Amino acid sequence: MDYLVKTTKNEQFIDITSLVDETVAKSGIKDGMAVVFVPHTTAGVTINENADPDVVTDILSGLNKAFPEKNGYLHMEGNSHAHIKASLMGSSCNIIIEHGKLKLGTWQGIYFCEFDGPRNRKVYIKVI
Ligand code: ZN
Repeated sequence: MDYLVKTTKNEQFIDITSLVDETVAKSGIKDGMAVVFVPHTTAGVTINENADPDVVTDILSGLNKAFPEKNGYLHMEGNSHAHIKASLMGSSCNIIIEHGKLKLGTWQGIYFCEFDGPRNRKVYIKVI
């Protein structure tokens, strides 16, 4: 399934766990794998804590300290910091499905990671 994700900020983590859950439920697959793929070079996907919202805020602030917006990069478009952060998060996640449910850890959620927004973005979810 292809989904549209509208980001509203320059940098933003959006919890897409329920979107993946719904896609798994619709597929009818009970044992398999959900592949979440982000087809962008300045956005990514990661799995991390969704209990305390400060965690994603801290991840973004840590990434910004490590990779500031201006740092003598060569890329003409001026968004190398976003490309670097997107590569670090990665463009896909695989989650095991057992008994029709995502086998995530208690505190884990799946996040779409925007690093050069706001934009209309795509997420592809394939259940196999
Ligand atoms: Zn660029």
